[in-house]
Amino acid sequence: STPFLSMRDLRVHFSTEDGVVKAVDGLSFDLEKGKTLGIVGESGSGKSVTNMAILGLHDPRNTALDGEITLDGKELITATERELEQLRGNKMSMIFQDALASLSPYHTIGAQISETYRKHTGASKKEARARSVEMLRRVGIPQPDVRINDYPHQFSGGMRQRAMIAMALVCDPELLIADEPTTALDVTVQAQIMDLLKDLQQEFGTAIIFITHDLGVIADIADDVLVMYGGRCVERGTKEEVLRSPQHPYTLGLLGSMPSLDGPVDVPLTPIPGSPPSLLNPPTGCRFHPRCAFAGKVEGGLCATDQPTLEIVDGRGSACHLTPEQKREFFADFATAR
Ligand code: SF4
Ligand code: MG
Repeated sequence: STPFLSMRDLRVHFSTEDGVVKAVDGLSFDLEKGKTLGIVGESGSGKSVTNMAILGLHDPRNTALDGEITLDGKELITATERELEQLRGNKMSMIFQDALASLSPYHTIGAQISETYRKHTGASKKEARARSVEMLRRVGIPQPDVRINDYPHQFSGGMRQRAMIAMALVCDPELLIADEPTTALDVTVQAQIMDLLKDLQQEFGTAIIFITHDLGVIADIADDVLVMYGGRCVERGTKEEVLRSPQHPYTLGLLGSMPSLDGPVDVPLTPIPGSPPSLLNPPTGCRFHPRCAFAGKVEGGLCATDQPTLEIVDGRGSACHLTPEQKREFFADFATAR
C-alpha cells in the first residue's frame, strides 16, 4: 500500500548572491497515519526547510524543489498555490516555536481559530465559535468560553502554544508538522505540551513530523527517527534502534550531548566539536568528516573523498564508511556507558 506521506529524493536549493545553497540534498522517507517521525539535527541541517517544502511555504522566486512528495496520493511539489492553500490548515498544518509569529496580535484567539475553521469548512460563525471553544477546552485552556475573547498577549507563553495547537488541529488535519514547538518553554510546560500532543494524536490519529535538535524530546514522542546532517539523512531507524544503538558518529555525538534516556546517568555531556557545514560549499566526501573523531579510522582516507551512501533495509540504515565491526568496537564504550 502507498504510505500516507512519502518523500523521494527531495532537493531544496536556494539561489543566493554567493551561489546555490543546497539546504536539502536528497531526502527520502515514508510516514504512516497516526505515527510520529522525529527529525533531529543541529540548526542548518535542513530539517525546517524540509517541512517548509512539504507545506509549500518556500519562496518560489529563489527556491528550486526537486523530487517527489505525496500526501495521501496527492503530489505536492507540482501542486498549485491554490491547491496547497486548500491543504494547509486543513489536511496538513503546522505548529512552531514562536506562537506569536502564527497568531495575529490584532485579533482575539477565538476569532483566529474560528476563521481557520470557517475558511476550510464553510461553517457558520456560531458553529465556528462553538468549535473553537471546544478546541480550547481540549488543549486545556481554563474557562475557554471566556478566554476565547482574549488577545494573544493576554495568554502566557504555554497557553499561547496551546492556542496555536488548537488552531492547528481545529480542522482535524491528518498531518501535523511540529517544528521545535516546545523549545522556548520551561521544562514543566514543555512536558505538559508534549503530553497534550500525544493525547491529541491518540484521539485524532494525526501523523506528526516532530522537528527538534533535542534527542530527549525524540525519546519522548517519536516512533521513527531520521537524523539529518548538512542537508542529508545520515541515520534512520525506529526510536529504540537509533537511541539505543546508534550507527553513525554524528548520532553518537548528539547522544553524547544529551542526558540519558532513562534518567540521569554519569555520562559527561560533550557537545560535538566544530560547527555545522557550509551548504554553499559543503565538505567533500562525508560532510561530517571535518568534525568526526573516527574519520582517520577508515582505510584510504575515504571519508574526505567519497560521500558514503545511505543504505536502508527495513527502515534501518546509516551513511558511514566504518564497517559494522569497527562500529561495534568503537561504539562499545557508548553502549556500556548507557
Ligand atoms: Fe565519520 Fe567517515 Fe563515517 Fe563520515 S564516513 S561519519 S567521517 S567515519
Ligand atoms: Mg529550524
